[in-house]
Amino acid sequence: MRQALVAGNWKMHGGLKANAVLMQELVDGVAALDRVDVSVCPPFVYVPQVSQCSGDKIALGAQNLATEVSGAFTGEVSGEMLKELGCAYVIVGHSERRTLYGEDDDCVAVKFARALDAGLKPILCVGESLEQRESGVTEAVISQQLDAVLERSDISAFAQAVIAYEPVWAIGTGRTASPEQAQAVHAHIRQRLAKHDAKIAAQIQILYGGSVKPDNAAELFQQADIDGGLIGGASLKAADFLAICRAA
Ligand code: PGA
Repeated sequence: MRQALVAGNWKMHGGLKANAVLMQELVDGVAALDRVDVSVCPPFVYVPQVSQCSGDKIALGAQNLATEVSGAFTGEVSGEMLKELGCAYVIVGHSERRTLYGEDDDCVAVKFARALDAGLKPILCVGESLEQRESGVTEAVISQQLDAVLERSDISAFAQAVIAYEPVWAIGTGRTASPEQAQAVHAHIRQRLAKHDAKIAAQIQILYGGSVKPDNAAELFQQADIDGGLIGGASLKAADFLAICRAA
């Protein structure tokens, strides 16, 4: 049995006061949960603050990391720095990074490897655009995104990783993939990994992300290959995020 994971991607939201209130509510709320791993991924600058108040049941994650280890890279943050500050996870290849900041499959593959080198668990995001879905190439797109990482980091690396399937058209749009649509892609991801190593494919947590809300979480998480969620907007409200954690 795979343990469920629900991770909150705060994106560029938050503030010292709001974070303190949210974290207190989350720490209180997760105390009663035992069958789900919970993580929050605040903006870099709030990582130390959240680390101080996340308790022992909420794992800390970051939203991005540099392709380099250290050096003259103005504005960048390395995986080692995140690890030192208490991060366990780091999101890699989120569609907003891919589309708004030009991160291609190679860049994502390097970041995935860097995360592992630093002792962080990458949450590797993959997903197709609406145009790609409508032209019937969803599985091909997902395969290509996975293969870029598999070429650089061997399948054994996936024993220390999480995958998040996030259809781009469902992110922040209120339009979620149906449980059947999501399950089909999750099964495809697992099969693709199983071609390399059946055991690792069976063990890896594959999260769904894209407009997950308290009222659609349960039916998504009931699908055989969906092991939890990567939650954007709904992770900023304690009641919603906790309801989603309970659904997992
Ligand atoms: P959303 O974002 O839940 O707001 O759609 C998910 C994500 O981008 O990870």
